[in-house]
Amino acid sequence: MLPYQLIRSVKRKTVGLQVKHGKIIIRAPKYVSEQDIAYIVKSKSIWLHRKIAEQNAQPAARNDHYQQGSQLLINGERKTLDIHYGLFPDVTFDEDIIIVTLSDKLKTKIAADLKQQDKYVKQQLQAWLKQQTHIYIDQNLCHYAEKIGVLPKSFNVRLYKSRWGSCNSRKELSFSSLLAMAPKWIIDYVIVHELCHLRHMNHSAEFWQLVVLHYPNYLLAKAWLKSNQNQLQWPTI
Ligand SMILES: [Zn+2]
Repeated sequence: MLPYQLIRSVKRKTVGLQVKHGKIIIRAPKYVSEQDIAYIVKSKSIWLHRKIAEQNAQPAARNDHYQQGSQLLINGERKTLDIHYGLFPDVTFDEDIIIVTLSDKLKTKIAADLKQQDKYVKQQLQAWLKQQTHIYIDQNLCHYAEKIGVLPKSFNVRLYKSRWGSCNSRKELSFSSLLAMAPKWIIDYVIVHELCHLRHMNHSAEFWQLVVLHYPNYLLAKAWLKSNQNQLQWPTI
């Protein structure tokens, strides 16, 4: 006898059978006896066995962030992910889409397990975002440092889960590689913010006065980061 979950209802007029996540659910009116229900289950046992087998054979849900048609934020704009295969791995984008080209060499591996594709798309995007953030900061850091009158020793870009940037007492700056998902004016704010820490290693009133002097729209930038935090967080597989 197949195990099932029985849900009784006063309103129901008929017996309903359903297989959900590989388990049988029976909905039945109050007056139908357990014996009758057992009989119905038995009479439908071939269909039920088939349904259960089908559902159990389905692969676990894939992460939906790195699949064809997934939505991603790049430069503060929503883009649709388009996955291709080619001789050389590449990432390019235009107004609406971001194209990730995976190496042809990965095709056989991915054909055996589609989940692998999510992993490679993520890896490639991650490296690309890091590169994009690095290029932008490299081009703009000196300009702001001169304006503010500070001299950072170095900067690096890495994948942070919960911060946009940091600064230590050795005047080394760090920036989140995910900043390339935000608009340029947001990256500018994070650059100014970290550079101002070279003067004030805290969030005192003096610190914010220096920030506002070099980035008057800082409240708007802070609000943007707060409201887009969820989208900017890097989903894990
Ligand atoms: Zn700070």
